[in-house]
Amino acid sequence: MKTIGLIGGMSWESTATYYRRLNELVKARLGGLHSARIALYSVDFHEVERLQSQERWKDAAALMIAAAQRVEHAGADLLLLCTNTMHRVAEPLQAAMRVPLVHIGDPVADAVHASGLRCVGLLGTRFTMAAGFLRDRIAHRGDLRVIVPAAADRERVDRVIFEELCQGRQRAESRAAYRRIIAQLVHEGAQGIILGCTEIGLLIRDRDATVPLFDTTELHCARAVELALEGEPDASG
Ligand code: GLU
Repeated sequence: MKTIGLIGGMSWESTATYYRRLNELVKARLGGLHSARIALYSVDFHEVERLQSQERWKDAAALMIAAAQRVEHAGADLLLLCTNTMHRVAEPLQAAMRVPLVHIGDPVADAVHASGLRCVGLLGTRFTMAAGFLRDRIAHRGDLRVIVPAAADRERVDRVIFEELCQGRQRAESRAAYRRIIAQLVHEGAQGIILGCTEIGLLIRDRDATVPLFDTTELHCARAVELALEGEPDASG
């Protein structure tokens, strides 16, 4: 089994989900007392959020590279950045590393394209919804339209992420707002919704939408375990 490297803490609320899901998936595949080999470096999200909101992406990239080097040093064979937003600096990060960065957009693009849908909605931080680093990676795979909410709803989605979900709060009122925003995207043609922020799955479940949801945390974890266990026999064999 390969060692999965994680840069976490963005926020730690979703890194906890990564840690649990990676272990559950390895156990499901290998059985018994098996668990995932993980090297985790968790950052202080206060520093990262400040760099994001000041659009200091070069400094943010340097911070990610320093974290990645620690994870590499700890023996990681592959690396996951446990956030969609920081994939904005995926290119300089990968260039500075020896081990492969498992880009969160790849398993998401694979899942969306395998579903055969032609139009999907994207929810995430204001950075993820406005920039192309995730949207384009998905859309460029084929003839697929990725739509985002209108400005006021983007602002609401972003605020809930930073002021509530990243601080461990899930409020019924915010769930209702997300449900309304998802319904509006469906009304505009979305046949599926990408939960393009690693905390949204803490608030929104399948029952909150009439269309399929693509949870980036779940898809990212599944891809990492697939890669970490390549060539390993499963529990039955
Ligand atoms: N975890 C979130 C994401 O997936 C937001 C936190 C951040 O801004 O890094 O984008």
